[in-house]
Amino acid sequence: MVHPPFTSGLTVPARINATGPPNDCQVLILGGGVAGIMAARTLHQRGIDNFRIVEAREELGGRMKSFKFGAPGREYVLELGADWIHGTQSGNGPSNPIYELARKHNLSTHPNSYRGSMTTYDYTGPVDYLDTFYSAVDAFAQLTVAGGKRVLRGFIDGTSRSGYSLIGAKPRTHHEVAAEYYQFDWEYAQTPEQSSWLASSWANNFTFNVDQGGFSAENLLSTDQRGFASILQAEAAEFLTEEQVLLNTTVKTIKRSSNGVSVSLTDGSSLSADYALVTFSLGVLQNDDVLFDPPLPEWKAEAIHGMAMGTYTKIYLQFPEKFWFNTEFALYADHERGWYPVWQGLDLEGFFPGSGILFVTVTGDFAKRIESLTDDIVKAEVLAVMRSMYPNVTIPEPDAFYFPRWNNDPLYRGSYSNWPASLVSGHHRNLRASVGDRLWFGGEATSLKYYGYLHGAYYEGQRMGSHIAQCVEHPDLCVGLPHIDEVLIAQPYTTEFVM
Ligand SMILES: Cc1cc2nc3c(=O)[nH]c(=O)nc-3n(C[C@H](O)[C@H](O)[C@H](O)COP(=O)(O)OP(=O)(O)OC[C@H]3O[C@@H](n4cnc5c(N)ncnc54)[C@H](O)[C@@H]3O)c2cc1C
Repeated sequence: MVHPPFTSGLTVPARINATGPPNDCQVLILGGGVAGIMAARTLHQRGIDNFRIVEAREELGGRMKSFKFGAPGREYVLELGADWIHGTQSGNGPSNPIYELARKHNLSTHPNSYRGSMTTYDYTGPVDYLDTFYSAVDAFAQLTVAGGKRVLRGFIDGTSRSGYSLIGAKPRTHHEVAAEYYQFDWEYAQTPEQSSWLASSWANNFTFNVDQGGFSAENLLSTDQRGFASILQAEAAEFLTEEQVLLNTTVKTIKRSSNGVSVSLTDGSSLSADYALVTFSLGVLQNDDVLFDPPLPEWKAEAIHGMAMGTYTKIYLQFPEKFWFNTEFALYADHERGWYPVWQGLDLEGFFPGSGILFVTVTGDFAKRIESLTDDIVKAEVLAVMRSMYPNVTIPEPDAFYFPRWNNDPLYRGSYSNWPASLVSGHHRNLRASVGDRLWFGGEATSLKYYGYLHGAYYEGQRMGSHIAQCVEHPDLCVGLPHIDEVLIAQPYTTEFVM
């Protein structure tokens, strides 16, 4: 497999001499999301059960997080975080492991047609610009195929905006801008200007593009009234004991020593282990919500701050009855890019017929903006957009209204990671690398092929669990995951071309 360009000069962490008092357990798994549970399952499968999962929330699941929404008597369990299985399986090709879990635990899902069930609007009302929409679908396909080829040929990265321009896609009208937004920002939770061309192509291709090793183009929406996280919780229940899981337990400081890792908790107590795996979101690490003692080395901090965290916010509304589009999606083109653009109806056969529920999604800087506003202001803006979409309908007050604030939440600080053009794969290697052989990192953001996705978190948890199992089994042979001390690439400033 060819990776995006990175420098050589890998440094293998020095083995630390294990001396001092025995630790509370062999492994601490910090965080009970997909990565944490998969790491735990891997340890268990290797016969290692002397571990603890430390989770701040009252349940396992992390960013698989559901809630009950709706007026009394019309309530539904909906998803605040992940709700799709992105890419399932094509023929006998690779299968998305989340799809496997969903099948094993009988998750109720319904296929969501991202491209085949769309109504288009702008600020004047319903306007058919489906031709423009499908041109943007084609442009995105060209962008990611061209980006994938550039990875293979070893090109240096650029932004996805430069990629779009190079393939000749230059959205100018507000319809074109909205159509591009749907393809790009709505997936990566940041703009093409903020995103790497090569890595965005890479992540898309490995998930959706069967010709490039992806699972399939299918998206399954969880409609399960136990919540999407129930598949993870059911899986965990097969091998975890109560003593292995510490819920409602928040980590404050992570301290490395030659003897292992000790963790201080917000209740004043502490825990120690020979090894620790940190699965907290990139946003948590970026915002010093958890402190490291000694502070993380510069190569690690550079990687953490070099990757970006996107925000993806679903704003749910319930009305007495449905008065909107009959397609699965609607696109709204405002004067401003990203102004309440992507609408999704749930009052549909296969989803929640009769529910009176729809939601609108905002992303990136706009999603951060609404987190600083009151619910009432956001509701007024959303209803104003609906009045533009339906100039001849008297829009009633919604019976229920809710949106989460992912970016302000100290347990997440954003929704999922996004790869900027300035991050080369040497940095990303450093994001994954252990610090010494005691402190390990894994989660969606450390996945090279599937960052941002549930299946990325799944594979990373599994891989880190397996590395740590090897260390537990053979401490003398334990070497951490290597890092690069200094990530050096081509020199951007050169006098070579100056006459
Ligand atoms: C709005 C939204 C929509 C998404 N949609 C999809 C989708 O449809 N499909 C898809 O594949 N992916 C989607 N994702 C991404 C997916 O949810 C994540 O990639 C995945 O859940 C990350 O798992 P993780 O184990 O790496 O991290 P997390 O789930 O964040 O797990 C880390 C855990 O650490 C805990 N924690 C944090 N700080 C502390 C602390 N100080 N002490 C103790 N515990 C702490 C957290 O509570 C959390 O449970 C979405 C994410 C969001 C937010």
